[in-house]
Amino acid sequence: MVSDEDLVGKFPGQSLDRDNAAHFRGRLERRLLINRCEACGLWRHPPKPVCPRCWSSSVRPTEVAGTGTIHLLIFLHQGPPAEGVDYSKPYPVATVELDEQPGLRFTGAVMGAPNDAIAIGERVRLDWIERAGAPLPIFRLAEEGRR
Ligand SMILES: [Zn+2]
Repeated sequence: MVSDEDLVGKFPGQSLDRDNAAHFRGRLERRLLINRCEACGLWRHPPKPVCPRCWSSSVRPTEVAGTGTIHLLIFLHQGPPAEGVDYSKPYPVATVELDEQPGLRFTGAVMGAPNDAIAIGERVRLDWIERAGAPLPIFRLAEEGRR
């Protein structure tokens, strides 16, 4: 397993802590891990050590399928410089409601589609790119939604 020190080194600029370390370890394996309560089944993101519904502390980082629907969409016209990011286009970032649970949302860039094809309600699937030496979760429009 990657040490805490190496993990922090892989994600400069991210605030890593005890609650989200497993999530970031999962990213290194290109697995999107979201905390799920083992007592009541509730998914919760961002990760917290206690389930907000039943107060159980049996929360376990669990891989999600990565499919979902765009819930919220913004097009960034400016932002911090990042490898592979072209704000002149501008750069689409979506909050995606994951299929595992209503209200369970994860935010990431949408790539591989023209901006005018990206809209709230579109189906997307998780994919991974490398950025700054670490895997980054992004979304692509799902094929079945394009027909
Ligand atoms: Zn619970």
